[in-house]
Amino acid sequence: MPPIVKVSSVSKSFQTPDGRTVDALKEVLLDIPAGRFTTLLGPSGCGKTTLLRLIGGFEEPDAGGIFIDGVLMEGVPAHKRPTNTVFQQYGLFPHMTVAQNVAYGLEVAKVPKPEIASRVAEALELVRLTGMDARKTAQLSGGQQQRVALARALVLRPRVLLLDEPMAALDRKLRKDMQVELKRLQHDLGIAFLCVTHDQEEALSMSDLVVVMNQGRVEQVGSPREIYDAPETEFVAGFVGEINIFRGSVSARNGDTRLRTDAGTLLELPVALADGPTAVCLRPEKLRLASAAPSLPRLTGWVRESIYLGTTTRLSVELADGDRVLTTLAGVFPVEGEDISLCYDPADLRVLKR
Ligand code: ATP
Repeated sequence: MPPIVKVSSVSKSFQTPDGRTVDALKEVLLDIPAGRFTTLLGPSGCGKTTLLRLIGGFEEPDAGGIFIDGVLMEGVPAHKRPTNTVFQQYGLFPHMTVAQNVAYGLEVAKVPKPEIASRVAEALELVRLTGMDARKTAQLSGGQQQRVALARALVLRPRVLLLDEPMAALDRKLRKDMQVELKRLQHDLGIAFLCVTHDQEEALSMSDLVVVMNQGRVEQVGSPREIYDAPETEFVAGFVGEINIFRGSVSARNGDTRLRTDAGTLLELPVALADGPTAVCLRPEKLRLASAAPSLPRLTGWVRESIYLGTTTRLSVELADGDRVLTTLAGVFPVEGEDISLCYDPADLRVLKR
């Protein structure tokens, strides 16, 4: 299926009041698939919101183009695009009722009155606010206000729903509930959702596709699983979850390829690599006690720190050559200062682009 949104070599800069130029997006190339939940993930200032605003028509690119459903959007204002946006601050009209807020866009579009009534009822049902029509939005909780904002955007039947940090104003428990709810909505409606977040857990749990951004560029695009299990760069590896990164040089001897870290630890690599500097990563949970799998290569050291977390214990281990690794072990409680022997499967090591 062709992508619903195509971002083609888009660049965008801003001038700051003190005369500096900020390159918010640098030649971004990206396809957003139709009918899926895609998330733009990255640290503050990496360009996520700028990209969302360009797609929504609130800004124009300096270079490159945005195509929606195959049509170049240059010069097409926000309200004429097949997109709708739910902003961080929901922007509801406090003096209007829930139903009036949701109906507003349809009235502006001069949709006939009976159709407005049925579409508003349908949208409120979708976001589970049936029966709240007559309430003023100022009398609603944060979670309910967010549902009204969603209904107001969905009632216009966009091809793409744009969500800018939609959970930012909600407390932790409500965020979790709304993550499930948003995913359900997207699934039921079958339209593309494009959501901005800097919360990695939120991105992994909600999305079909995660776009990791860094300093105005797309760093990696993949399923949550690919992003977590197979990060391609140090940035992605370090940004999404905890990780051990080993930097050093490759040396191939007698058929097997090893990495010698700068401190001196030797690691068996899963693939043959050319000699030279490289970096590999390994998730903490992939390191196990050596006694669990005696045939696997080992890393020995001592426990610097041991933190009991309920179902697991999180250990910081200093290896013989001075490298430090993190591991999470289930059901064992090595104490600080104790010697420890860990093992890893070379297949779990990921070679990072440098
Ligand atoms: P956050 O998570 O903090 O919202 P973000 O990833 O969404 O960050 P953007 O808001 O897209 O990042 O900003 C990207 C860069 O462009 C930042 O350095 C920001 O300061 C700058 N920027 C964005 N909008 C403007 C503007 N209107 N004027 C000047 N600089 C801007």
